[in-house]
Amino acid sequence: MEELQVERMAEVFRCFICMSKVRDARLCPHCSKLCCYLCIRRWILEQRKQCPHCRASLQLSDLVNCRWAEELTQQIDTLRGPVRPQGAVGGSPQTQQEEKKDMCETHHEKLTVFCWTCQLCICHQCALWAGTHGGHTFKPLTEVYAQHVAQISEEESAIRRRLMELISLVQDVERNVESVRSAKDERVREIRNAVEMMIARLDGQLKNKLITLMGQKNQLTQETEMLESVLKEVQHQMSSSTKSDMIARSSEMLQMFTAIHKKPMASFVTASVPPDFTSELVPTYDLETFTLTRFSQLQQSADPVYSKPLNVTGLSWRLKIYPDGNGVVRGQYLSVFLELTSGLNEASKYEYRIEMVHLASGDPTKNIVREFASEFDIGECW
Ligand SMILES: [Zn+2]
Ligand SMILES: [Zn+2]
Ligand SMILES: [Zn+2]
Ligand SMILES: [Zn+2]
Repeated sequence: MEELQVERMAEVFRCFICMSKVRDARLCPHCSKLCCYLCIRRWILEQRKQCPHCRASLQLSDLVNCRWAEELTQQIDTLRGPVRPQGAVGGSPQTQQEEKKDMCETHHEKLTVFCWTCQLCICHQCALWAGTHGGHTFKPLTEVYAQHVAQISEEESAIRRRLMELISLVQDVERNVESVRSAKDERVREIRNAVEMMIARLDGQLKNKLITLMGQKNQLTQETEMLESVLKEVQHQMSSSTKSDMIARSSEMLQMFTAIHKKPMASFVTASVPPDFTSELVPTYDLETFTLTRFSQLQQSADPVYSKPLNVTGLSWRLKIYPDGNGVVRGQYLSVFLELTSGLNEASKYEYRIEMVHLASGDPTKNIVREFASEFDIGECW
């Protein structure tokens, strides 16, 4: 049987005066409500000869004795389970203890009634005989308690759901952390792979250069070894041969020297292998040459001369040249500035190299080279 149905049946066998399980049941012949014999007896003797429920006039002799009620309440108790004290929804030993505290301080009776009007837990004596709750609405305490417990449990499960939702949000954030971390690790792996491949390509270039250089060295070593042995032989001949032998062999030796000289020295001078490796990280300089013509004429003016713009990946650069020097160095030097005419909105650092080529002489040693790294804003000159 469903627990709820059992509870409803138990409700029928509750005394309408003390709100507890009916004891020594009596029935009002007018309204058929059940109450304890002691409860109704006290009411009729001490208050009035009237049913407290339906208010029909009532004598003790009018009450119907319901012996069967006793038997039924016992059966209901068996259905409700072993430890199910009145007024408790749970059934733990703790609630039994709690129940001992649920006593009326005035009457030392169990609190079984809830006065709806006063919103107070009272005993059945407070409800019926104390006079302070006349005409008030009463409800069984267990029913009100059950309602409160139900409401609290409902709210509690709402909080529990909220907690679960928050926990799942925490898990979402943790998963997010993981995905962000692994995305970063993926980029790091890409960089490591790219760098390793760059190193491998550099190793390949180095190997090629070394093969060339080893070949050159071998060729030279062979020649030096050969000359060393020739010189040794000549020394030996000169120190050990008799004068006549020496004279006899000198023509042969001179022929051998001539043969050595036949191979030109220039054939041993090979082009040097350049110690350069293309950088895959740092781009090479973008170049622009600006030729100043009629220089002497330009020197007459203090105004600057501008080069054509050099556009590099969205940045525009130009040279600003004072042919006769700028400011305090006027008349002494040539002043050259690099100007960023358009580019990024924030200042950034750029490396640049300015080389002044002396065109008239064509002598590269007369060139002046300067390399710098400066922070440029748009319109700024260095
Ligand atoms: Zn009645
Ligand atoms: Zn009673
Ligand atoms: Zn009381
Ligand atoms: Zn009241």
